[in-house]
Amino acid sequence: MFKKILIANRGEIACRVAATARRMGIKTVAVYSEADANAKHVAVCDEAVLIGPAPAKESYLRGDKIIAVALATGAQAIHPGYGFLSENAEFADACAEAGLVFIGPPASAMRAMGSKSAAKSLMEKAKVPLVPGYHGDEQDPDFLHKEADRIGYPVLLKASAGGGGKGMRVVENTAAFKDALASCKREAISSFGDDKVLAEKYLQRPRHIEIQVFADTLGNCIYLFERDCSVQRRHQKVLEEAPAPNMTAERRAAMGDAAVAAAKAVGYVGAGTVEFIANQDGSFYFMEMNTRLQVEHPVTEMVTGTDLVEWQLRVAAGEPLPKKQDELKITGHAIEARIYAENPEKGFLPSIGTLRHLETPEAANFELGGIPNLPSAVRIDSGVREGDAISPFYDPMIAKLIVWGADRKQALARMAQALSQYQIVGLATNIAFLKRLVEGDAFANADLDTGLIERNQEALFPPARSVPAAAVALAAVALVEQEKEQSAAQSGANRADPWGQALGWRMNTAYARKLSFSDEHGKNYQPQFSYLHQGWLLAMEGIEAHVGLMSQDGVDLSIKLGETSVHGTVRRDGELFHVFTGGGHYALAYNDPMAHAGEAEAEGGRLTAPMPGKVVAVLAKAGQQVKKGEALVIMEAMKMEHTITAPHDGLVDEILYAIGDQVTDGAPLLAFKTA
Ligand code: ADP
Ligand code: ADP
Ligand code: MG
Repeated sequence: MFKKILIANRGEIACRVAATARRMGIKTVAVYSEADANAKHVAVCDEAVLIGPAPAKESYLRGDKIIAVALATGAQAIHPGYGFLSENAEFADACAEAGLVFIGPPASAMRAMGSKSAAKSLMEKAKVPLVPGYHGDEQDPDFLHKEADRIGYPVLLKASAGGGGKGMRVVENTAAFKDALASCKREAISSFGDDKVLAEKYLQRPRHIEIQVFADTLGNCIYLFERDCSVQRRHQKVLEEAPAPNMTAERRAAMGDAAVAAAKAVGYVGAGTVEFIANQDGSFYFMEMNTRLQVEHPVTEMVTGTDLVEWQLRVAAGEPLPKKQDELKITGHAIEARIYAENPEKGFLPSIGTLRHLETPEAANFELGGIPNLPSAVRIDSGVREGDAISPFYDPMIAKLIVWGADRKQALARMAQALSQYQIVGLATNIAFLKRLVEGDAFANADLDTGLIERNQEALFPPARSVPAAAVALAAVALVEQEKEQSAAQSGANRADPWGQALGWRMNTAYARKLSFSDEHGKNYQPQFSYLHQGWLLAMEGIEAHVGLMSQDGVDLSIKLGETSVHGTVRRDGELFHVFTGGGHYALAYNDPMAHAGEAEAEGGRLTAPMPGKVVAVLAKAGQQVKKGEALVIMEAMKMEHTITAPHDGLVDEILYAIGDQVTDGAPLLAFKTA
């Protein structure tokens, strides 16, 4: 076994690999970019070496530097994680040339599967079923257009070198083909440096079911069953589970055999995933093979009682697979939820910022590689800690929350519970959305297909509801208590300060005070407190109740509201009060009468960058008349394209940036005159 390995990645997967290495007594070397100097993965490894500036191209994708670091630190092998260099055959070759073990498949297998087009041709020969489409070399736009017409719409265009759901475009009809192809190619070249595309029939209501395969250097190849990853947004996975609901033993064996055949056809070694797209009737087609460890590997680990990173290390060191096919079985059910820094209400737009407060559900003392301990099997794979930032340079995933249950129902209940215990302040997250998703009928009833989120828009994006009175009361009590403390501290320190001597608000209205909060949707709440001997009388819309603070432990409060006890956590972030109670998270902005009245926000068609990023296309010219909704500039940030469109009919006055320019958050991209 290796004595020391280098982990060529960041975030949760770097931490995940380091955890297994540590358990096996293997030393670890981290590499990091300037943006990650204080990152968790740097802290959990035995050594860490700076490899370059924040952009991945200058750091995590610099194979040459990473190999030099491995040699200098005496690492014998490199684990690439997922993303970055994990599917880069040239990097695997370079490792071999430098005398380092690449913990992954042979470069030849990566090359064979690296191109979705070439992989489909190979699978065709191996008699693995394929989605009808075109995956040849001819790339002339007119030719591809004819092929799309032949396949029949809707057609899906994919970047042959693609991954992470990027570069995919659904084309609804022949008129939309040209623009979709251009956009697909543009994203393909900017993300993968290769604009080759393939076209496929876009299936209706399909499920994404994938098979985990594992092969060793001695010729053994097995499958560790399936994962269902149908719940997706933007063709990217949101929830994953194992086993797949309604899977029959026969179908499982058929898919497992097809996956093993696919792996064998390319001389596969190590961990790999063969992704299938399945119809509701269970018929399935090969989609692609991911030649690396998958993000959602923990659900497989939980139901099979394995540590797949350990398996990877053993196989890379030349050992045989730890288990044979007939020694594997599925125990219980596991579900993973990807916690992203993003705003589901705004089209899942990634969000950036600092994790000012991070409170995670109790992770049961679940040991990697063991069947989880009952009764509470919760695992969190995370690469961030409180105080860390989600930057625009990398993936916006904050953590993976994985739960195990004796059956799907129990796993679901645990997931809902764990999500309610997750508290994040400082940036937008998808936690509340995930909670609605796992509690919603569609997922609960396993009515799965890749359109689940879109199909259930109404239930998943309910109209904004008022903040419950209990949450407002918690915020109000927290505020008043905090002011009391401050004023006591001040009066001790500075007796001359008039605000310190008497609590400021008491000066105006003898013993009553009206507070004002606004929620995220601008709705106003005005709880009025009247001071009683014991506690207060709280009056607000539809409520009049006696309120008393029962106990306070830092940010955790228990209050009595009328006859009910309310517990919650109130985290203050400037003027924002984040209240966590009853499984909900409510952000209430305190309208401080003492603070300067904030300037009215300039609204309406400011053509600014939604987040820091790079300009990838400029579609309008200075002096051009445009119609409302017309695309003007396309930016790329956080692995996503954002199209800036004309807010009204008007005239483009001046374009302020060129293709390739880096722009900061909020920077005006162009000058525009409304017609
Ligand atoms: P999975 O099926 O395991 O979710 P994805 O294709 O979604 O795999 O990609 C896994 C991770 O790697 C994601 O976080 C994605 O953003 C990232 N990723 C995928 N392709 C690339 C790439 N070419 N460069 C960098 N990161 C990538
Ligand atoms: P990536 O490399 O980005 O993961 P995939 O080829 O694996 O690309 O496709 C990603 C997702 O896109 C799938 O999980 C599925 O939801 C959807 N998808 C892919 N191919 C099809 C298809 N032919 N019809 C319908 N949906 C598809
Ligand atoms: Mg895929």
